[in-house]
Amino acid sequence: MMQTDSTNPRWLALQALLLVIREGRSLDDALAQSDKTLFDARDLSLCGELANGVCRWYFALLAQLKPYLRKPLKAKDIDLKIILLIGLYQLTKMRIEDHAAVNETVKLVVSRNKPWAKGLVNGVLRQVIRDRVEIEPEHYEASYPQWMRDTIVTDWPQDHQDIFRAGNSRAPMTLRVDLRQRSQSEQIKILLKDGIGASGHALIDSAIELDKPCLVSRIEGFDAGLLSVQDAAAQIAAGLLDCQPGMRVLDACAAPGGKTAHLLQANDDLDLTAIDLSQSRLKMVEQNLVRVKRKAKLVCGDAADPQAWHEGALFDRILADVPCSASGVIRRHPDIKLLRRAGDIPQLVKQQRKLLDGLWSVLKPGGLMLYSTCSIFKQENERQIEWFVENTDKCTVYSLNSVQWGERRPFGRQILPGQHNMDGFYYACLQKSEISSKQN
Ligand code: SAM
Repeated sequence: MMQTDSTNPRWLALQALLLVIREGRSLDDALAQSDKTLFDARDLSLCGELANGVCRWYFALLAQLKPYLRKPLKAKDIDLKIILLIGLYQLTKMRIEDHAAVNETVKLVVSRNKPWAKGLVNGVLRQVIRDRVEIEPEHYEASYPQWMRDTIVTDWPQDHQDIFRAGNSRAPMTLRVDLRQRSQSEQIKILLKDGIGASGHALIDSAIELDKPCLVSRIEGFDAGLLSVQDAAAQIAAGLLDCQPGMRVLDACAAPGGKTAHLLQANDDLDLTAIDLSQSRLKMVEQNLVRVKRKAKLVCGDAADPQAWHEGALFDRILADVPCSASGVIRRHPDIKLLRRAGDIPQLVKQQRKLLDGLWSVLKPGGLMLYSTCSIFKQENERQIEWFVENTDKCTVYSLNSVQWGERRPFGRQILPGQHNMDGFYYACLQKSEISSKQN
């Protein structure tokens, strides 16, 4: 059957990559179109594999392409560049037959109304086949932008190779089971009975890793809120916050609400306020809470400016799951390599400081604030907290010595991507003491 553009997985992958590279859209957003028009599971998987794979290996593929072009392509021909990368990815990283990869990729040039470039794309890809080029598997770092490589090597001189490799691996689909309704082992039995291969996470009681990703609609109990999709590292937050019945809790950067739902499922009778700057993302929190049948007060606002939204008593617990570089979750979102710029980091650090300062002002003396990021950059994590502790009265950081996950840092704890098969995450638990910690 003849495929039209909107049902051609390669064409849809190209459109998604153009949205990421030209317009800075996230890949998940950009792929939403293909979810609507591709009904064949194999086509959907090919489209996702091409778009994710090209993002994952983008910088390495570019370097590989360079010697094959006699002169660089013009900026207006960015589509041709991506078409060539899609072709290269198929030839070097996928088990697609050479002639199919070349023929189908060349057709994209026609769809883009640039038939003059057919010879170019055909010629480059055939030469690649003749040369049998491969990206050497150990050269993971070549697939990261230079500034990110430098930051990771400087921050983690012993671990950078493992970090680069983990960032290019495929993350497991991990579920969180509501432990008040089912134990980890009961849930695994149910999944296995339904033909879904699964195993329990060794360190996190609520976490279950699936052998292969599957549609949530296949998972019994998902719609009823017994299960949620959440990486094991993100499942740590609710326990660290140590909420008690009746407490006033603030989830300060709440959307899409994974941790809000967990907090409410794990604790009875919390007076929880969930705030997010984005109205559309706050909607996702609302939908998540409907699914797990829990309630919270939802506020759209700037958590760094409590005067604008805070009323009533101070909070006993605050979760500050702040916006960050997301450098710890590159294995799930390879588009981060293309979307983040070195200049974003100081901006994020500034924004995180404002959030820490603003939120501290609404924390009760004796209360706890959990600062977390899905970043592995020290500036956003241990150095950020070092700065905060030095500049904040009545603030002490918990040592978190008794836990088994991640590694202890001078301030807080860091999980590097891939450790215990988790995403990269950072946690620091801050307590506000009743008496001033500063000497006069
Ligand atoms: N805690 C969420 C969860 O577990 O599902 C993930 C939070 S995500 C890392 C960060 C969120 O912070 C985004 O939804 C973003 O819209 C929100 N955000 C960014 N700046 C904010 C601000 N100044 N005030 C409130 N929310 C903010």
